[in-house]
This record gives sequence, C-alpha cells and structure tokens, in this order.
Amino acid sequence: MNFQNSLDFAKKMDLYDPLKNFRQKFYLPSQNGKSQIYFCGNSLGLQPKSTQAHIEQELKDWQTLGVEGHFHGKNPWYYYHHFVEEASARLVGAKKDEVVIMNSLTVNLHLMMISFYRPTPQRYKILIESPAFPSDQYAVASQAQIYGYDPKEAIVEAVPRVGEETLRTEDILAQIEELGDELALVMFGGVNYYTGQFFELEKISQAAHKVGAKVGFDLAHAAGNVLLNLHDWEVDFAVWCSYKYLNSGPGGTSGAFVHEKHGNNPNIPRLAGWWGNDEKTRFQMPKQFVPQAGAAGWQISNAQVFPMAAYKASLEIFEEAGIENLRKKGDLLTGYLEFLINDLNQSEKQGNFNIITPHDPNQRGCQLSILTGENGKTLFDKLTQVGVVADWREPNVIRVAPVPLYNTFEDVWQFAHILQS
Ligand SMILES: *Cc1c(COP(=O)(O)O)cnc(C)c1O
Repeated sequence: MNFQNSLDFAKKMDLYDPLKNFRQKFYLPSQNGKSQIYFCGNSLGLQPKSTQAHIEQELKDWQTLGVEGHFHGKNPWYYYHHFVEEASARLVGAKKDEVVIMNSLTVNLHLMMISFYRPTPQRYKILIESPAFPSDQYAVASQAQIYGYDPKEAIVEAVPRVGEETLRTEDILAQIEELGDELALVMFGGVNYYTGQFFELEKISQAAHKVGAKVGFDLAHAAGNVLLNLHDWEVDFAVWCSYKYLNSGPGGTSGAFVHEKHGNNPNIPRLAGWWGNDEKTRFQMPKQFVPQAGAAGWQISNAQVFPMAAYKASLEIFEEAGIENLRKKGDLLTGYLEFLINDLNQSEKQGNFNIITPHDPNQRGCQLSILTGENGKTLFDKLTQVGVVADWREPNVIRVAPVPLYNTFEDVWQFAHILQS
C-alpha cells in the first residue's frame, strides 16, 4: 500500500473500506459536542449500540419469569455460556469445547495455574515476559509462594537486550531451553500490554513442550485483535478479558481455553464448583463432583448472565465482520499511523517519536507504543484537550490503538496532524 499524508487520501481509504459501516454500530464518546478520536480500545472498547437490547432481554425474562428464566427464558440461563462458546472459539482458534466464558481474567489465570502449574523441587520455575502486566506478575508470584517458593527465584523474566525495547524470539527460545527441566510453566502475554509486541506463540509453545514445561498465555491484548490458533499451537491453557478489544463493558466476563488433551481428563486437579459438574446431573446435586468434559469443567459458579449478555452482543458483531477482515483493516490502519509518524519524524519540524512496537505486521496488532521526547506529557495533555483519547504510560510512552471496528483512517490522519501542530 502506498500511503499518502493527506486528509483526502485518508477519506478515500475510509470510502473504500469494506468494514466502514461497523463504526455506526458503536457509541462514540464526545467532548464539547464533538466525537472524540478514540484510540483506547486496547483499554476499554466502546459500547455497541446493540448491548442494551441484549441486557434488556435478560432483565425482561427475569421480570416476567423469575426463576423459570433458567430453563424457559429466551436464552435459558442454565445454558448461557453455550451461547457465547462458538464465536469465542473462532476468535482464539479453538474447538468449541475448549473454551468457556466465566469469571474475570486474573481469577481465570489463577484457576488455570492451579491446574497447570504443578511445581516439584526439580521443576518449579515460571518464565514470564518483561515488562509483564502487574496483575500477571502478582498472580505468578503468589502461585509460587503457595508452594513455598521464593518468587525471586521461581519467577524468571525474559528481558529485552540492552538498548532494545522488545524481545527477540530467538532469545525467548534460548532461555526456555536453558531453563530446561527446571521450567514448569511459560506464562506470557500474547500481545505485550506495554510494547504492543505480538509474540510468536507457536514457537514458544513448541519450545516449552520440548523441555517438558506447560505453556499458558494471557490474551488480554490479543483476543479480538490478532489471529490466534490456540488448538493447533498446542497451547495448554489461555485466558483473556472481554472489555478491551472485545467491547463487552467494564469488568466484563473473561474467557478461558483449555486444550482438549487436558479438557477431557477428569483427573486434572482443579478448584471445583457445581457449575463445572456434568450438566446432566448438576441439578441432582450429586455428592461427588464429576467434571464436564472440556473447558466448561473448570466453571465454578453459575453464569453471570448480564455481563455475558453484553459479551454476546459484541461477539455477534465480530461474527458479522470476521476476525480475518478486521485484522486486514487493522494492519492498514496501524500501518498508516506508522507511516504518518515516520513522515513526521522526517519533516522539517523534526518530530522525535520512536515507535517501540515491532514494524513487522505479524508481530503486532492494532497498538503502536510511541516513545516521546522530554515534553511527552505536555503533548499527551494537549491531545486529550482536543478530544483524542489515548493512553499514557510512565515515564514517556503514548499507547495508541486504532481499532478496525470503529476507527477510521481519518481518525489516524487527524491524530498525526495534531501531533505535528
Ligand atoms: C487488562 C489486563 C489484565 C486485567 O486483569 P483483570 O483481572 O481483568 O482486572 C490482566 N493482565 C493483562 C495482561 C491485561 O492486559
């Protein structure tokens, strides 16, 4: 694609965008009567206009049916997680039975680690990327502590080389091999929240298995953003949240993936609850827990229907748009943003922006993380004042995520234009 730095060009890109009508399916927040340029879909995705009706349907069934809604509602609550299974599985490249929508993200991460982090005196280390999201760091450290290990020793970080911002796959693989039979688990973010780097998950999965370790991914910044193939990559488990790229609202329900090679094994230790019990006998209240086959056997409590109704509304939009199409547009939007920033760096005004996200489209999703110069915070505040919603990370990074469902090429051009002025 030969990009051009002009408003006309951006408008033309929007005109010929096959996904252009999806923007109208969302509410765009406004400031001083003007729609904001919203680049924060990696933090909290926007509200689909259809969300309200989905939640109201469940409110209505509750009003009119009471407890009968469990079996006689339009979407019987007893089976609610099944209604979001297939579309979720498609987004992460899984079989239907390998995914379940439940709880929240960090909770699911703990549930998965209880099952798949089983340290022994010989094999107890966890490899995690640096910088990892704080919640993930706390989660892995506390898991190690439960078994009496000092996190300083048990948690190993994969750190970028001196002078570099992102990790090289070859270094990650070498570190896995070096840890060898001390390594119990590789737990990586799929897309790093800070740099936007999309790791080569298949290679990481293979390397982990080669040394006998398990592998799990936190897909908070990957689900609904990049193309995933968890089943074929033989990932042991994964978790994600639904309120970032998946637009299901603040604190929305999370997802979990358990590979079928584990999902059908009732002997895998887990924290059990009645909702994980075999659906057919669940209401007979058997004394002995018999897990359902698949990821659903990791459920603990009954479904959180209202947030899951919001999830369902959003998934329908993803089904209509298609994740491959979204990724194609996402690559163009992100590529255009990159082009404009590089153009700015070369202009007579000499912008001084250093994009730390990988240049290779296969190693990133929608997000670009931009290292700013000294007055980055002033610049960020200016952006906020004129209605650009981006995200500031200390000490001097602006994270910008043009999301293919609702952002436009004009949004991207306007953003660069404001940076320049
Ligand atoms: C957003 C995010 C979280 C948030 O965790 P919650 O349990 O949903 O509050 C955790 N980990 C990563 C990598 C994230 O990006």
